[in-house]
This record gives sequence, C-alpha cells and structure tokens, in this order.
Amino acid sequence: MATKMLFQLDSYMKEFEAKLVKVEGLNAYLDQTAFHPGPFGGLASDTGYLEVNGERVNVVEARLENNDEIVHVLEKEINATPGTKVKGYIDWDKRYMMMKLHTASHVLSSVMYNKYGAKITGGHIDSNGAKDDFDLSKVKDWRTALKDGVNESNKLISSCAEVKVYYLPREEAIRIPGIVKLAEKFPPNVDKFRIVEIVGIDIQADGGPHVKNTCEIGKINIINLENRGKNKKRIYYTVKG
Ligand SMILES: [Zn+2]
Repeated sequence: MATKMLFQLDSYMKEFEAKLVKVEGLNAYLDQTAFHPGPFGGLASDTGYLEVNGERVNVVEARLENNDEIVHVLEKEINATPGTKVKGYIDWDKRYMMMKLHTASHVLSSVMYNKYGAKITGGHIDSNGAKDDFDLSKVKDWRTALKDGVNESNKLISSCAEVKVYYLPREEAIRIPGIVKLAEKFPPNVDKFRIVEIVGIDIQADGGPHVKNTCEIGKINIINLENRGKNKKRIYYTVKG
C-alpha cells in the first residue's frame, strides 16, 4: 500500500499521527509518514522515533520500497497489531539542516548551469553537509568557476527569495523550460508533478523537503573542492546562518 508522504505536503511537519499498516520484524509500515526516506532525491534518511502503545521506539532509518512505500527501520521489535495508532517524531535539527542544504543545492545548480553551462552529475546531502558534482569540462578553470558560483549563489540566497511548492499536471509541467530533462526521468505513469520553485532563481520537479525562504539558509561555505574525473568536479559545502 502506498504510504502518504506528509513531508511532501509540509516540509516543516515535525510530528504526526498515523496508523500501523504492518510490521515485519524491525520494519514498520504506516499509512502516512513525515519521515523522509533515504537515499531519495539525493537526501539522506530522517531519523527520529515512534510512540507505539505508550512506548518510544527509535527509527534508525526510513527507506523507500516499491516506488511508493516507506519502511521505518526500528531499533527494536514492537508488539503491535495493524490498525494501531502511532505518533511519529522526526529529528528536526538534522532534517532542517538537510532542508537548508537542499534548497542551497538547487540555487547552486541553477547558477552553475546558467553561468557555466555546467550540468550536475551527482550529489548527496546529509545533516553534516552536501556534495555536488558538476560537468565543468568546457570551463578552463573549474575551481574558480565553482568559487564564483558559490559567491553568486550567496548573493541570490541573501535576497530572501520565496520557495513555492505546488503540483502541476504532467502536460503543463513538461512545458516549463529546464524541468523537461528531469521530467524525462519520471516514470510515465506519473500524471502530476510536484514543482519546487525558488522564485526568480530555479524551478524543478522535485520530491524532497525545502525551506520556505532562501534567507533561512544563511550562506554556503565551501569545505573542499575535488577533481573526481572528467565530468565530475566535486564541491563539498555546508551552510551557516
Ligand atoms: Zn532537489
């Protein structure tokens, strides 16, 4: 049964109520969840805990199964039957950091594409920081390009741009320039796209949690730049208020 993904409706949901659908050993399935699974959309999994029959059980990881089911991997087995009401709590500090890094990564990838024609070739975000790989094979000095991209991104981020999340029918979404290449990766049976628009900066079909305003991000700080191959110039970064 598909799990309703509450984090897609409200990225700021820190706790929620749900019903237990089934339990298999340490794996718990709920009818809905605010736990973001990982790795999914380039983000690591949320952690946190469930309250089941008055008992607190840590969720060490959430994973996506069969495209639309989220499994909560528990620290210990629980004794509860399907239909039991549970409460879920996510580790907000870790999640909020991932939201800041996620929105920052969209700003950076937009700047690198618009200014240097650089496509993103990989990336990952967890609560300790982000890494993104860019194809900068057409650029003479890739290190300078990445440093400049970060400076440019920080200017845009400090303009307090609104981040909007909404749904569009497939036919309408694929007409938006820039999201077409991503849309092609979507399974053909998806008829509604979740759109994340950083107003004036970036627009993408995207399933993950974001901040509401770029001023929540603070500033991108480069940790390291690394040459990982011809089409992979890697930047490691954090964000700080
Ligand atoms: Zn994204």
